[in-house]
Amino acid sequence: MPNKPWLNDYPHEVPHTYDYPNQNLAKFLVDSAAAYPDHTVLDFMGKEISYSSLLKSVYRFANALLRLGIRKGERVAIMLPNCPQGIIAYYGTLLAGGVVVMTNPLYVPREIEHQLTDAGVRMIITMDALVNRVNKAMEKHPLEYTIVTGMQDYLPFPKNLLYPIKAKKDGMSAKVIYSHKVLSFKKMIAQSSEEPCEVKINALEDIALIQYTGGTTGFAKGVMLTHMNLISNTIQAQLWFYKAKIGEESYLAALPFFHVFGLTVLLNQAIYIAGKLILLPRFEINQVLKTIDEQKPTIFPGAPTMYIAIINHAEVQKYDLSSIEICVSGAAPLPIEVQEKFESISGGKLIEGYGLTEASPVTHVNNIWEKRKSGSVGIPVPDTEARIVNALTGEELPLGEIGELVVRGPQVMKGYWNRPEDTAASLRDGWLFTGDLARMDEDGFFFILDRRKDLIIAGGYNIYPREVEEVLFEHPNVEEAVVAGIVDPYRGESVKAYIVLKKGCTTTEADLKSFCKERLAVYKVPKVYEFRETLPKTLVGKVLRRKLIDEEAEKLVDQ
Ligand code: AMP
Repeated sequence: MPNKPWLNDYPHEVPHTYDYPNQNLAKFLVDSAAAYPDHTVLDFMGKEISYSSLLKSVYRFANALLRLGIRKGERVAIMLPNCPQGIIAYYGTLLAGGVVVMTNPLYVPREIEHQLTDAGVRMIITMDALVNRVNKAMEKHPLEYTIVTGMQDYLPFPKNLLYPIKAKKDGMSAKVIYSHKVLSFKKMIAQSSEEPCEVKINALEDIALIQYTGGTTGFAKGVMLTHMNLISNTIQAQLWFYKAKIGEESYLAALPFFHVFGLTVLLNQAIYIAGKLILLPRFEINQVLKTIDEQKPTIFPGAPTMYIAIINHAEVQKYDLSSIEICVSGAAPLPIEVQEKFESISGGKLIEGYGLTEASPVTHVNNIWEKRKSGSVGIPVPDTEARIVNALTGEELPLGEIGELVVRGPQVMKGYWNRPEDTAASLRDGWLFTGDLARMDEDGFFFILDRRKDLIIAGGYNIYPREVEEVLFEHPNVEEAVVAGIVDPYRGESVKAYIVLKKGCTTTEADLKSFCKERLAVYKVPKVYEFRETLPKTLVGKVLRRKLIDEEAEKLVDQ
């Protein structure tokens, strides 16, 4: 078959075309609960919930939404950290025919207002510590209902694991006049029926999720993901992970569910294979190490920064990480150094994959048990086509050349919510233009170089930040490094490196420069170095390169 060398890389038992079921996405939970009613689905700080008990709460919540008069396709926002209430709200909304809008609990009122008004949200499920922030954000566009779960309701939240919510800043002590109805999540569950209910869905057309993305550069856009997009991506990931033991795996759920990576590879995936989710409301390194040591998860999907934090923890040797069999890293490039060190510490496999919100998100991943390549994001998951094209003309490029990665498959979004022009620019004949520069090798493995817009052009030379970052990472004193293009009057742009050093280490700019000179062509060597305590990141651990570039631009304006 032309252009699909990767097909040979999946073993015989993995079907290359799969008959994805046309059903409500929440059927994954219904089916797993029918097959494994007594298995633990959630472990929240040592308290366990079984599949049958979770499903009963989900039915109760769905029935409560139906009683409130939710109509099919109506948008329901969920603004919660990883917790049982969030999962009940998610599956309950889907069963009631609603469309979930995941909202980051760290958003400030301006961001909340943009997202909820853009999506036309009718109700939100949030927690008591956040409700005043939502109320403030929605002053001008009141929601009909705010459904509030208490931090100490249902299952008490450990205080040390909450997001750093500043009570005063959020106006928690202020008197609030609600312009919408505030309902108690706990009461809704208690007073509702646990009769099975399920709104009929056409999975190919009906939207399950509007997921906001692109917020690092201006206001975020809503990506419409249908039930089928999410069903197929969960199954595609499962086909890749074909040796998983159904009903036996346990997942460390440290990635936030409000990011599509956590949503698909944890929430949907674990429940599809009747696994257990060990929930962590946020990534706190000591808690993560303790949880792995005590609860012994087998699977730990994460972002590179999570694995970096683990390998650099001063007391990592004290913890037993040997239960971990598979980690899949996504969302940002995984430095090879980090991959090797993490594998030697844990004894498990750390596999790099790639995806984007617009593809639900997974499109590529390295093989776990067969051939894999370090530095590559692997091969397309089953039923996914990928090509490298000229970004302007869309023409396919010869093997090995760098161009824009385009992908096609059942996981590719329906489009952007209310943005037909953006949809037309990104989706052409079913191909999703990812905005990422990549190349494919002769074995069909893909290598992501960088986002098209992050490419640095210095004196006419193309410089891929990732290549320079990989070199900086090799330096023994460097914990984290990010590289960006800054304005240069002669070259147009030049390379600047932002460095976080390992605790207790010192290194000079001259040392880093000569280290890079030995390993990179001179035009790629960063001209400017800035040492920092931390780098700005999203909650999923993606470095906000854009923020650093904007800071540079502000400095220029101030001069
Ligand atoms: P998001 O839609 O927020 O998940 O961001 C998707 C973007 O993350 C992609 O378009 C890539 O630029 C980046 N990304 C995801 N996985 C990787 C990876 N393994 N290596 C490099 N970049 C990645």
